[in-house]
Amino acid sequence: MAEDLNKETLTFYGERVTWISPINLNELLELKVKYPKSPLVMGNTSVGPAMKFQGHVHPVLLSPARISELSMVTKTNDGLTIGAGCSLDQVMQILMDEVSKLPEEKTRTYRGLVKHLKSLAGQQIRNMASLGGHIINRHGYSDLNPILAVGNATLNLISKEGRRQIPLNEQFLAGLEDADLKPEEILESVHIPHSEKWEFVAAFRQAQCQQNAFPDVTCGMRVLFKECTDTIEGFSIFYGGIGSTTVSAQKSCQQLLGRRWNALMLDEAYRLVLDEVSPPGSTPGGMVEFKRTLIVSFLFKFYLEILQELKKIITLPLSNNHQYPDISEKFLSALEEFPVTVSRGVQEFQGVDPNQPPHDPVGRPIHHQSGIKHATGEAIFCDDLPVVDKELFLALVTSTRAHAKIISIDASEALELPGVVDVITAKDIPGTNGTDDDTLLAVDEVLCVGQIICAVVAESDVYAKRAVEKVKIIYQDQEPVIFTIEDAIKHNSYLSSEKKLEQGNVEEAFENVDQIIEGEMHIGGQEHFYMETQRVLVIPKTEDKEMEIYISSQDPSFVQKTVSSTLSIPINRITCHVKRVGGGFGGKVSKPAVYGAITAVAANKTDHPIRLVLDRKVDMLTKGGRHPLFAKYKVGFMNNGRIKAMDVKCYINGGYTLDDSEMVIEYLLLKLENAYKINNLRFWGQPCKTNLPSNTAFRGFGFPQGGLLMESCITAVAAKCGLSPEKIREKNMYKRVDKTIYKQAYSPDKLIRCWNECLNKSSYHSRKAEVENFNSKNYWKKKGIAIVPMKFSVGFGMTTYHQAAALVHIYTDGSVLVSHGGNELGQGIHTKMLQIASRELKIPMSYMHFCETNTATVPNTIATAASIGSEVNGKAVQNACQILLKRLEPIIKKNPEGTWEEWVAAAFEKRISLSATGYFRGYKANMDWEKGEGDPFPYYVEGAACSEVEIDCLTGAHKNIRTDIVLDASCSINPAIDIGQIEGAFIQGLGLYTLEELKYSPEGVLLCQGPDEYKIPTVTDIPEEFHVSLLTSSQNPMAIYSSKGVGESGMFLGCSVFFAISDAVAAARKERGLTDDFILNSPATPERIRMACADKFTEMIPIDDAKTFKPWCIPIA
Ligand SMILES: Cc1cc2nc3c(=O)[nH]c(=O)nc-3n(C[C@H](O)[C@H](O)[C@H](O)COP(=O)(O)OP(=O)(O)OC[C@H]3O[C@@H](n4cnc5c(N)ncnc54)[C@H](O)[C@@H]3O)c2cc1C
Repeated sequence: MAEDLNKETLTFYGERVTWISPINLNELLELKVKYPKSPLVMGNTSVGPAMKFQGHVHPVLLSPARISELSMVTKTNDGLTIGAGCSLDQVMQILMDEVSKLPEEKTRTYRGLVKHLKSLAGQQIRNMASLGGHIINRHGYSDLNPILAVGNATLNLISKEGRRQIPLNEQFLAGLEDADLKPEEILESVHIPHSEKWEFVAAFRQAQCQQNAFPDVTCGMRVLFKECTDTIEGFSIFYGGIGSTTVSAQKSCQQLLGRRWNALMLDEAYRLVLDEVSPPGSTPGGMVEFKRTLIVSFLFKFYLEILQELKKIITLPLSNNHQYPDISEKFLSALEEFPVTVSRGVQEFQGVDPNQPPHDPVGRPIHHQSGIKHATGEAIFCDDLPVVDKELFLALVTSTRAHAKIISIDASEALELPGVVDVITAKDIPGTNGTDDDTLLAVDEVLCVGQIICAVVAESDVYAKRAVEKVKIIYQDQEPVIFTIEDAIKHNSYLSSEKKLEQGNVEEAFENVDQIIEGEMHIGGQEHFYMETQRVLVIPKTEDKEMEIYISSQDPSFVQKTVSSTLSIPINRITCHVKRVGGGFGGKVSKPAVYGAITAVAANKTDHPIRLVLDRKVDMLTKGGRHPLFAKYKVGFMNNGRIKAMDVKCYINGGYTLDDSEMVIEYLLLKLENAYKINNLRFWGQPCKTNLPSNTAFRGFGFPQGGLLMESCITAVAAKCGLSPEKIREKNMYKRVDKTIYKQAYSPDKLIRCWNECLNKSSYHSRKAEVENFNSKNYWKKKGIAIVPMKFSVGFGMTTYHQAAALVHIYTDGSVLVSHGGNELGQGIHTKMLQIASRELKIPMSYMHFCETNTATVPNTIATAASIGSEVNGKAVQNACQILLKRLEPIIKKNPEGTWEEWVAAAFEKRISLSATGYFRGYKANMDWEKGEGDPFPYYVEGAACSEVEIDCLTGAHKNIRTDIVLDASCSINPAIDIGQIEGAFIQGLGLYTLEELKYSPEGVLLCQGPDEYKIPTVTDIPEEFHVSLLTSSQNPMAIYSSKGVGESGMFLGCSVFFAISDAVAAARKERGLTDDFILNSPATPERIRMACADKFTEMIPIDDAKTFKPWCIPIA
């Protein structure tokens, strides 16, 4: 079979695309004559995304995968010729092989390429992407083209006309016609010459993270010296990431020919290069000053590297008696790159009591019930449900304007497209269209880019998405258009009234302090970036307007309720099913109801089952995320670090509707004090209304922002007092049972234990000394270490929201079906529920099964959120099991030696119900905002985290070296799952505080609409050493089996990395004679780190007058 396929041309005909796979080079060349405009599809990592996301259309695609000539590798005396079809991974292996065999002087270009290949994209892309595809694409960010260009690579082209060579040079990279391939030509191979003895090549790159990120700036640099001298005979520099193509600093290099490799030449080089290649202020991708700084920082690195090389090979005194200045060891750290490492870690927790019966799984590290299925792909998610008879697909039409009147919606062209069935608008809603302030489908006005206006129903997702582009909406722009918090304050644009908490006498306290600092802080938002985007399948039934809804939601009852009011049918006709959710993080609390209700309108109107599956772009565009925060603070303190008074005003960017914004600001204020007892406090907060997508719930619910702000104030106080931040933390931490700002009693025993254990386990003090020692010896690399305490309150702050129910059936074979109101978000809730049922019924977990969360089985459920899902539902399951066991007791008493199966059979015989509902009325919680007091939280989760990082002051890169977390999960129901939650939340927090940036254009368009632009942590961001310990011998009588809910708290601990970075930056600034009382805004991205480590490079770059250009993006926090 395989043989036959190799012999014939394969042609696949699609509706719009024909895919041809020729069998030999000749045939490919003929096809290229016939279809000169058709791309060659090699790895398809460039053509594919362009077709999928940018609407590129290619009627014919040529696939040369079977053409062996394109994979040939030839070694010649002067270099290597690598087939254009070799994958980037193969290229890396080939080059590494050469590097290991040839003398060092011949392989400098190869080393540069290998260095970049190791961090280019990720392994999967490198396995697929081809060398030819990479070169021909000429992406402005290409990592390889700058090095190939400086390495004088040549491209071997072939066509029916014959073969020819062209250089991979500036003209080719700029796409000039006479330096380019002809339409019928293809790239057969690439010749990469060996480097020469007096020729040096280096490569540098900086990206948002170590792997899987396009470079911000990337470059290849080469210098050729006159033999045995340091006189420059050849010089070339190519930069990527600073324009739409790879850019050459050719003129600068030309002017430096004949110069000697010394500081004078370098100073001249900085000036020339900045003049020649500085990206303009409005450069797409932004970060212009950062990029300019990198341009010269890389040049400096190159200079140092070559200086080191010259020192090695020039032994005799040079002409003109020139001697090399010795570069002090302290400055050589500029040359070290952070290695790509794999994390290792230790997880510590207390084992169960040795007397606990072996069948009792509570407290044991049982693996997640779906863990293996997640890994094998057998776990069923919403869109894995098979196609239903007559199913149609929905795609959303969203606003392209931030604030405008809708003049008209013309769907006629869309309706004419093949496969299109209908277009759903607000007029099709039989019931209520959301609320006046928050409509499901826009009516006359749009208030943000991404607001849903209408939706196309079609026979397939492709048809529906294609038709979306054809719905014509005419807008009339409206004023004002507000994006930033600053603008919202100016326009008095708020979503709800101001909230305030106060204790002590703030004004008086400010009069009696040694020092006062005042400042501002900006904390960016965050995208949920769950693996499974929002999706729903609505199946209308033929009878009584019943509807089955399969949805990825944290709150199916809210979906049910919203669909009911939207369709104006009673709740009891609608059943929502949630098997499992591929991550929610708060983004699937309120938002699925919107998508569910719109889909239900379409199902109701067409009488067809309708499936809606958002792609990442529409998910990010329509849903909102974590609220960005802008805060103004005033802190009064004594010289010994005791904080006496704080006045903090917080504004969050809520977007265009209220959603959860009022609750988020309330929680933010309630949690703002974190672990500190400060007698005189005033916290204010208000959610701003802006013309951006509406922000919503997100893991930690305001605390990650508020906690970071408080810890930043602590760091600022430490800097002013000349004391270490941990001293200030200890001085101000709760020490005894006391009252919080909202007058709830709080006992800090566990907080203090976590703090002390974390100090010990991390060897904080000795490592801090080592960090200081390292810093004294290194100028361009700095280490930082920080330890942060945490007091995190769990729960919803409202008694009603703490109730939960369960339904447990025992079947006649003894098997048990457990149902409850919680949803599986990957957090292992069902595993814990089965552990609880197993303990209560005193039978092994193998008897237990959980099928799905279903509103018909357990009604009126509460969102699975606020860290308490497992324990409140666990209490309900416990209650149901206890009821059942009570019913079985007489039977067991009669036959105590009997088996479970026998007791169940006997109970059935005796007509004893084997099904019970369980109920938990919930924790009491209240908060009186008029008085600013209450008991809003059932209990607290305490913890502490210590992190160490190293930063590269020249590039802003950082490496997470080690993190130690100690957290109190009390008597964990399942320590494996809880530690997984803590680790996952910590990494998500690390993403929030150091990586993830939501960027908006000046028109309010979200510019990062997928993983290319929005960077979440990858495996290389996990600290090299990652230790998590659960506090031992701890009890929490409030929760089931004395456990604690730990779903959210770890998120905040990610800020220990932020403060370690801040510590490293402070060390750099101190050494450079700069003040160390700076405030680092969040996230601490490479850009922020680099620009905070101000030096001669940040000073030498041109700074544009903000009025002279339109920036690519605007800050919205
Ligand atoms: C997730 C992701 C991350 C990435 N990260 C990086 C990164 O960090 N740094 C970086 O530099 N790049 C990065 N890239 C870009 C990647 O390097 C290119 O997409 C890839 O090298 C293109 O190769 P391909 O074989 O997939 O090209 P294809 O998509 O198959 O083809 C691309 C183009 O090249 C043409 N072509 C291919 N082969 C030939 C040939 N032999 N002769 C003539 N024309 C030919 C095709 O006609 C087509 O126009 C990333 C891409 C992705 C998808």
